[in-house]
Amino acid sequence: MAAYTLPDLPYDYSALEPAISGRIMQLHHDKHHAAYVAGANQALEQIADAQAKGSYATIGMLEKNLAFNLAGHVNHSIFWTNLTPGGSGGPQGDLGRAIDGEFGSFDVFKAHFAAVATSIQGSGWAMLCWEPLGQRLIVEQVYDHQSNHVAAAVPLLVADMWEHAYYLDYLNGKADYVAALWSIVNWPSVGERYTKAAAAH
Ligand code: MN
Repeated sequence: MAAYTLPDLPYDYSALEPAISGRIMQLHHDKHHAAYVAGANQALEQIADAQAKGSYATIGMLEKNLAFNLAGHVNHSIFWTNLTPGGSGGPQGDLGRAIDGEFGSFDVFKAHFAAVATSIQGSGWAMLCWEPLGQRLIVEQVYDHQSNHVAAAVPLLVADMWEHAYYLDYLNGKADYVAALWSIVNWPSVGERYTKAAAAH
């Protein structure tokens, strides 16, 4: 069984400053993300062990551990590629047109996404997703790493709203953190994710 591995950041720890400090990025990637990778691999091993033994007394806990840790790994892997030093303006091309079509304008989308991000109760993520059944963009408010997520929806742009993602820099200033994120979004990469997701479904 292939183990999950921690991907390298596509830029230096301090490359996203001043929006996100190098201190946060190092901890976030090397400790938090790494722990989700280890947790996902451990859960898979324990599930395989339970299956081999035909002993399913703890399977509910193991499946929850798998969902939490694997979703944490997936979300962070997307998050790093959603960001780039210096940002890149706004959405262009097909994604830009899809955002205008679904939300009316980029400004309306940003207000909606920021409201979703800043109103999470506890730990979670704001996500712009492609929803293939309805062939539309949706914004999700995900709890922990996986709850409140529509099964087939493909995350395009994700914002980590766990306190570990911003507290060292912004304390309780969630809105300031989200405002800063807009300055480092890698829109060409988000646009590629949209084009692939819409073409595949
Ligand atoms: Mn995180």
